[in-house]
Amino acid sequence: MSAMRHLLDLCKRRGFLFQSAEIHGGLRGAYDYGPLGVELKRNVSQEWWNSMVYQRSDVVGIDTAIITPPAVLKTSGHVDQFTDEMVDSRLSKERFRPDKAPALKLIDQDKVLPISAPDKVTAKVWEQDLRTQFAKGALITRKGKEILLQVERMEKDKIVLKRDNNTTTTTTATTVTTSEPTDLHIPYYGYVDPNSNSPFLTESRPFNLMFKTYLDPIDPIDKVITTTLDAQKSPSTSDLTSTRQLVDKTLHPSLTYLRPETAQGVFINYATVQRSHPHLKIPFGIAQIGKSFRNEIRLEHAIFRTPEFEQMELEFFVAPWQAEEQFEAWRKFRMDWWRYYARNNDRIRERAHAQDELAHYSSGCIDVEYLYPWGWGEVEGIANRGDFDLSKHSEATGIKLQYTDAILMQERQAREKSTGVKETSVEVLARERFTPHVVESSCGLNRAMLALMLDAMEVVDDQGKAIPFPGEGDNNNAASDNSTVSKGVRTIMRLHPRLAPVKVGIMPLISNNKDLVELCTGISQSLRQELQVNVSLETQSTTIGKRYYRMDEIGTPWCVTVDFESLQDRMVTIRERDTGEQRRVSAEEVVEIVRDGLRLHPRGSTTSNLQISK
Ligand code: ATP
Repeated sequence: MSAMRHLLDLCKRRGFLFQSAEIHGGLRGAYDYGPLGVELKRNVSQEWWNSMVYQRSDVVGIDTAIITPPAVLKTSGHVDQFTDEMVDSRLSKERFRPDKAPALKLIDQDKVLPISAPDKVTAKVWEQDLRTQFAKGALITRKGKEILLQVERMEKDKIVLKRDNNTTTTTTATTVTTSEPTDLHIPYYGYVDPNSNSPFLTESRPFNLMFKTYLDPIDPIDKVITTTLDAQKSPSTSDLTSTRQLVDKTLHPSLTYLRPETAQGVFINYATVQRSHPHLKIPFGIAQIGKSFRNEIRLEHAIFRTPEFEQMELEFFVAPWQAEEQFEAWRKFRMDWWRYYARNNDRIRERAHAQDELAHYSSGCIDVEYLYPWGWGEVEGIANRGDFDLSKHSEATGIKLQYTDAILMQERQAREKSTGVKETSVEVLARERFTPHVVESSCGLNRAMLALMLDAMEVVDDQGKAIPFPGEGDNNNAASDNSTVSKGVRTIMRLHPRLAPVKVGIMPLISNNKDLVELCTGISQSLRQELQVNVSLETQSTTIGKRYYRMDEIGTPWCVTVDFESLQDRMVTIRERDTGEQRRVSAEEVVEIVRDGLRLHPRGSTTSNLQISK
């Protein structure tokens, strides 16, 4: 995990990412993107949009409302089915998703079940809870903040604990040295509390992830109170179920949801987009980038899982007979995108969903996963969704959401005219008019940003050799979390230049020299105006070396230094982040070097965008 800690520290220190509302105590799962974070996030989404929309003639964009009426989400199945299973840990009271939880860990040749409490005091309380409630009569010891339970054996869905023969259980008649055997048989569901390894859990239950909100100037809580009080007056409505039904009915007219995905906004606009863009012929796509909201049971790994996040989604509408091929094509296209922007291709993989993971309407789905410091995690899902979405919205609204192939139709009409015979073949008509199938690519912008930062981040020693992150190996040799220049150990963020938040750092050799600063300002103005890129004028009074390293740490691909000779000959030093190579070029050439370096090289090309052309 030290890579993650190292990154989060860097993000805070250098202004990528801040805990939201920190001065008011913060809000769990809410993050603000600082000056560098906002640039990086914009660049990632811009690269996505560029490849999905601008570089293709078959995709258009859209931006739909976040606040969504219940009818849309009832139709899509989200109201009834957008649930995760939820489990409570009986000891820690933590809530978590069983499908993401780890399996039980045993130690000492599988004879001991260790449970880790956050501290010694909590461990004492948990030990007491186990002795008196959850594992009565079991052989339990405690070592610091670890509670150790002796295991007799594992069964298919049970952990059988060893009895503590010294335990005394008082009955009314006498004192015996046994305990209830049932307390020693602990149900095991295949997972444990991720933080403590505790198998003492509630059964799992479904939980809807959507945030409700009410479009009404009257506080919904007032309505709940009045409706509940009224319901209590009549015996026929005073029970819990009837009161709940009355409350739901009262609130329903103003009920809305914060969308849990951007995709539904696209489906409900399929017909309007098609009507307004008649040149779009199947297959074609509609792309959208925007915020989505999910009341996640467990928020984790900073911006990896948050209640508010951004999605970059493409819904690609295809003829039913094209779906398989298009699914494969998009799968490849998206993997190529990932491999283009990430450095470590061995940290990106596809994981095909098993049959039982697939939604009932889906005939194929893969997750694009990145190897985060805590393991493989999904960054994107690519799915062959069939005609489920359009069919459902069509059924619910009575509006036909179909595609008509005008050319095929005209050809048939011409044939009918010349032969005088009406063609009624179901196959011919089905090829002419059909409900499109959908291939979807759904990528989390924040998760993508996190993956790309982790992927780019490297700690190097004074020779420029990559070394482990602090805590990952030799600590004496590892970077501290603070500025590391003095120790010769430092961080380089080897981001693709198109993603880098600052493209060029421009620095006067002497930071307060008016003439040097003026030339720097001129160069930065040319870069800003000609390339519309983010440039940083680095005028801190530190050495040029330290300023270079500060730029490396945030991923700036080029640094330009202006010295006293530059004032005579307008030649400056340009330094390249990844090689540290420096050379003299004219101030005018800087724009061309950066322009060239930011060009998109062909997909799959191994040419580094960072190489300075000689
Ligand atoms: P997970 O299983 O991790 O909860 P999911 O399968 O529910 O993800 P999708 O519904 O497929 O996610 O959403 C598409 C993408 O949106 C995901 O691949 C992920 O990148 C992103 N995403 C989903 N939920 C969140 C979240 N709570 N925070 C940040 N990004 C998210």
